Amino acid sequence: MKFNELGLSERVLQAVESAGYTAPTPIQEQAIPHVLAKRDVLGIAQTGTGKTAAFTLPMISMLEQGRARARMPRTLILEPTRELAAQVEENFVRYSQGQKLSMALLIGGVSFNDQDAKITRGVDVLIATPGRMLDHFERGKLLLTGIEVLVIDEADRMLDMGFIPDIERIAKLCPFTRQTLFFTATMPPEIKHITEQFLSSPVVIEVARPATAAATITQRLVATGGQDHEKRDTLRKQIHAAADLKNAIVFCNRKRDVATLTKSLEKHGFGVACLHGDMDQRARMNALDNFRTGKVPLLVASDVAARGLDIPDVSHIFNYDVPIHADDYVHRIGRTGRAGRQGTSLTLVSRADRKHIDAIEKLIGNKIEWFGITLDELPASEAVETPRHHHQERKRPGRPPPRTEERHRPSDSPRSAEPSTPRPASPRRQRDEEDDRPVKGLGDHVPSFLLRPVRITKS
Ligand code: AMP
Repeated sequence: MKFNELGLSERVLQAVESAGYTAPTPIQEQAIPHVLAKRDVLGIAQTGTGKTAAFTLPMISMLEQGRARARMPRTLILEPTRELAAQVEENFVRYSQGQKLSMALLIGGVSFNDQDAKITRGVDVLIATPGRMLDHFERGKLLLTGIEVLVIDEADRMLDMGFIPDIERIAKLCPFTRQTLFFTATMPPEIKHITEQFLSSPVVIEVARPATAAATITQRLVATGGQDHEKRDTLRKQIHAAADLKNAIVFCNRKRDVATLTKSLEKHGFGVACLHGDMDQRARMNALDNFRTGKVPLLVASDVAARGLDIPDVSHIFNYDVPIHADDYVHRIGRTGRAGRQGTSLTLVSRADRKHIDAIEKLIGNKIEWFGITLDELPASEAVETPRHHHQERKRPGRPPPRTEERHRPSDSPRSAEPSTPRPASPRRQRDEEDDRPVKGLGDHVPSFLLRPVRITKS
């Protein structure tokens, strides 16, 4: 099928041509005609399937008729994270070239006043994270009674982040007669329940995960000791050993570890940016820009911050931590091997991670091969050595960026899904944080016979 058979306006078709798209993706082909016919749509699809254009293109076509009224946006798009909201805005800008589409973005880190001014003038498209949207609403500057189309994107992620009560509240503030477009990658029971509540006789469209992704990704497990310093050591070795590494995303399970690992990699001379839920909007955007433009080749990220990001052409994924939810593994490795390109994913596995690896292998339906030695062959409490034949001394990717103090402030999102576990400064933590300093003498590795009490016998 061709784009011009879907019922899109001439101007939108031109924008699609300028974007270089030759044919609609399956979700676009199936959703666009229904969206244009004003039907509710339940799209079960994940990022990478072209789902953003599946709702933005027909919305732009529809918005060509009519105009926005003061304080009453015509359409509302809810996204779980600021980056996704900003990405959707970019899509609207790209596909509405030459049109006078007015937009406002209600996300943390973007000034209230500027967005209020836009809303007061009237906007066609309002893109928001749920918490920030309700903040504006409660200030009385915004009416949702003119909403013609409500888009709820990445609904299962919203569920993970605790946004569902906000979503329910927002949906009730929109007119009953609105059209609802609902996208989710998975259908847990809670999501099923709210689709029954919010959608009226929806067209259900389910598209498979981009099947080509897995085929083009070489997945390997790397055995490592479980201590933080051992894992960092293993990671550095793997980064050096990856001869074809162009750029990489390094995933951690906790935001605290994102910050620690970033600092450690910086200290070792790697060009690195980081992304986690506690960073302010500017810092996040800077980090993403630096990574996207190749200024830094490494991005250390948490799942929540990185979910759904469209960063084309990432050569490597490193799972510094094995994800606790098997689903996240699929999302993480899906950041590479996009659009038929080759990608590599390396997952650091310590003895404690076995059960999570079993769950991942069950989900993806096959065993992942080990790179180098297996966990069973790993010497007790030792970081694994990269096999010699894989190890090629190469220039460290990128220049070390100037060291800046990361300022973390609490996220503006009411509930962050990333577990935040402030740790007391235990001796072990101190040691972990100091592990990157040059070791003097025996360092921490004092052989146990030296620690045995010495018995002095009287002669
Ligand atoms: P999404 O799933 O919306 O995050 O889109 C993933 C990527 O696919 C984005 O970089 C889009 O620019 C791109 N894309 C969307 N529709 C098409 C299409 N019909 N042909 C080629 N690329 C597309």
